[in-house]
Amino acid sequence: MKPLSAANYKNEFTENFPGDDSGDLTPRQTPGKLYSKAIPTPVEKVTLLAWSNELAKELGIQKPDSEQDLNILGGNYVADAMKPYAACYAGHQFGNWAGQLGDGRAITLGEWQTPAGNTWELQLKGAGPTAYSRRADGRAVLRSSVREYLMSEAMHYLGVPTTRALSLVTTGDPVLRDMFYNGNAAYEAGAIVMRTAPSFLRFGNFELLNARKEHDLLRQLVTWTIDRYYPHLQGENRILDWFKEVVERTATLMVEWQRVGFVHGVMNTDNMSVLGLTIDYGPYSFVDNYDPDFTPNTTDLPGRRYAFGKQPGIAYWNLGCLAAALLPLAEKDKLLAVLETYKEVYWKKYYQMMGNKLGLDVVTNLDTDLITQFEQTLAKLQPDMTIFFQLLIEVPLYMRDEKQVADHFKESFYKELAEEESQQLYTLISNYLERLNRNTIKREVSQQLMRNANPRFILRNYLLHQAIEELERGENTLFTKLQEAIKEPYTSNYDEFFMKRPEWATQKAGCSMLSCSS
Ligand code: AMP
Ligand code: MG
Repeated sequence: MKPLSAANYKNEFTENFPGDDSGDLTPRQTPGKLYSKAIPTPVEKVTLLAWSNELAKELGIQKPDSEQDLNILGGNYVADAMKPYAACYAGHQFGNWAGQLGDGRAITLGEWQTPAGNTWELQLKGAGPTAYSRRADGRAVLRSSVREYLMSEAMHYLGVPTTRALSLVTTGDPVLRDMFYNGNAAYEAGAIVMRTAPSFLRFGNFELLNARKEHDLLRQLVTWTIDRYYPHLQGENRILDWFKEVVERTATLMVEWQRVGFVHGVMNTDNMSVLGLTIDYGPYSFVDNYDPDFTPNTTDLPGRRYAFGKQPGIAYWNLGCLAAALLPLAEKDKLLAVLETYKEVYWKKYYQMMGNKLGLDVVTNLDTDLITQFEQTLAKLQPDMTIFFQLLIEVPLYMRDEKQVADHFKESFYKELAEEESQQLYTLISNYLERLNRNTIKREVSQQLMRNANPRFILRNYLLHQAIEELERGENTLFTKLQEAIKEPYTSNYDEFFMKRPEWATQKAGCSMLSCSS
């Protein structure tokens, strides 16, 4: 275990690519550059709110025990071995080309060398302006930092590919935010998350270089990405092979989000990791009631582009943008052929995943109808997704009548079922039980499959909201409890969290819908 101030960093990104090393933090375009040097802007007082022990252990990082190491977490101290920078990238936002964006409030300190022999970028989110802050302040507020810290760790424990979070500190500096975009700006507590991943490279890093017609740099970045993160790809078609693997990883990620009911909320191409990780936690949410049209992002309401059920299709669209960015490096037909593999990969993995959620021994073509029937019935009746699947694990193998079925699942519903709805549920469950009867695996094995695929605890928005309100008052009871609860989502003993979203949270801001203001 080494302290954060140790000389344990590589800086290969900045050493391999051209950057603007002036340190100038004035917002600007940086043609020909992949990054701009950005020293964090010091804050009033760094106070540690949370530290991820398990992650720190994995990365070989010692918990800060000196003022100096603590100050690193708030951007008040930069160790000699670090070369802090903000990456330059572009992206498509809500379907439109947005041009240069870049890390407006994220600063990578360096590439930390882990005991396993890898490197992980250590990045501060909210550490002050960079050349890419445009009109914004480069800061982050406590509520959005708590959300990123807890949720990225929660996703990790759910087994969903994600960036991680090592620490959460408050800065002692107030940050002005117009939370509802209605002209009522107010000061909130400032905070900084240290987040980490092997790489934060996004589709947008590649789109930027293509848009600027910097084809040599584009080739260099692709080659570097493959060498570093996809070293098993060695053949002469490695660019296409790489794109194929990005397609596969992205499809896997979408299946995983569908499995646990995660809605990202801002699937712009600048928020799409080239490693297939969940990245940039903003106005995300789990679905409570199963609603494919649900979007947690108030900015997304007009078109619901990023709604729960649309995510797999949007990922395909985003991969299309990445394919377009690679056109200078590979034949169009071949890129398109690889892009088209997305659908096949996605559906294959999707049905496999649903088979696990339903505890099926195998998923054959005959089962796809049943899976579709589940989707349609759930979308119509809108039970709480998490609770419904928990109740499904324990469903009696023989169900007498509609009433018995409705009673069994009662706890998961947000409303009384109409007669027709009870009937639909009964038909669904009858078909399901018939299928379970044909399972060639023991009931216990089937139930174990289901327990592994269906979380019992999810980090619901209203819980985060309550924890944040407490923290803003200086209490950390719920926050501390949630920090523990996220670690065992499949076997959770936290019965107090095993309940539907309460009625009061349905319309309350921050509990169901969120803005991008953070
Ligand atoms: P997002 O879609 O929220 O991940 O962010 C879109 C772009 O806005 C990225 O380039 C961010 O770095 C930038 N951005 C968001 N919030 C801020 C902020 N407070 N200060 C500077 N840049 C920001
Ligand atoms: Mg972003």
